[in-house]
Amino acid sequence: MSATIVSDLLDWFDRTKREMPWRLSRDPYAIWVSEVMLQQTRVDTVRPYWERFMERFPSVRALAEAPLDDLYKVWEGLGYYRRARNLQTAARQIVDRHGGQLPADASALEALAGVGPYTAGAVASMAFGLAKPALDGNAVRVASRLYEVGGEVSSARVRAELEARIRALLAEGPASGRPGELNQALMELGATVCSPQSPRCEACPVGGECLARQGGDPARLPQRRKKAPAPFAEIAVALCVEGQSVLVARRPDGGLLAGMMGFPAAVLEAGESPAEGSVRALAAVGLRGEPIGPFRSYPFVFSSLRSVHRVILVRRSGGEPAGEAFFADRRALDALALPAAMAPIRDALTDARDWRVLSARTGKPAPAVAGDLVLSEAAVG
Ligand code: SF4
Repeated sequence: MSATIVSDLLDWFDRTKREMPWRLSRDPYAIWVSEVMLQQTRVDTVRPYWERFMERFPSVRALAEAPLDDLYKVWEGLGYYRRARNLQTAARQIVDRHGGQLPADASALEALAGVGPYTAGAVASMAFGLAKPALDGNAVRVASRLYEVGGEVSSARVRAELEARIRALLAEGPASGRPGELNQALMELGATVCSPQSPRCEACPVGGECLARQGGDPARLPQRRKKAPAPFAEIAVALCVEGQSVLVARRPDGGLLAGMMGFPAAVLEAGESPAEGSVRALAAVGLRGEPIGPFRSYPFVFSSLRSVHRVILVRRSGGEPAGEAFFADRRALDALALPAAMAPIRDALTDARDWRVLSARTGKPAPAVAGDLVLSEAAVG
């Protein structure tokens, strides 16, 4: 039965596989980068990012030596920036430990920063032809249905059983020399045919062998515990504009958006108002300030946190930017790699023709001109 499954899957993959630029490459580095980008991200989204990335950082060494801000700039909009940081850390480890070449060994791959069993298996099988399983969410779904494996899918027992099933497939004659393609076929089947809610079993190349299909209710597998909703936080952002410059700062190394440039921000503490939070965020980068008023609010969902950003316009009353904080000229704003969570603020600033804070105190605010970003004094939020 296994040999039939393998040859059916490989035949189907040969006939129907989607074109992806990294599938044309045998370069382990190019394959590794694509696998990292594809984590939690759709193929169509990844395609242009991967092409730009490979052009800008064509080798492990180029990536290892790149300034972090250049890396973030190329990654900008792809989200989950920890992946980019880990890629560079791993590139440096590859230079130090393996002379700049990815190791043809799943354990050595798994010892690199940010590389888990899935990525190690994918690179080992696709780039080096090693018979290692690569179980992403799609392959897990297919395997659990094909062999009708019940039980909580993230448990060690189920994981081990699914891996053993795939190892057995990879050991079959037809898979010899093509382990990477067999892994990709399983993932492709999950992505295009064996969907979570309504698998198209009639179009499935292994429909005749699938135990869950024979059981009549394949969509009940894999079994997952219901996830608790992600926690929620309010984030105060200090928008400090002086002339045609705006204050930006690098985030601390740990926590949300670690190490990234952005507008000073702080997660609100219990009982703290957005205005108070904005002053605290300002103080963290060396400035004293007073809130002028709310600029705008918008929701943003991080991978593990739902949030609302409360952007407060603040005025500096003393101090100088410390550490990696500085006033960025509006013309330089586009060149900064800012996280997607801060894009609504950056867009509002770059779309505006002019930045002017209208003073309500003088009683004679300058007249607003269409297209100007008018930052007027208002009630403090
Ligand atoms: S027969 Fe249906 S449930 Fe089974 S692997 Fe194919 S698409 Fe998935």
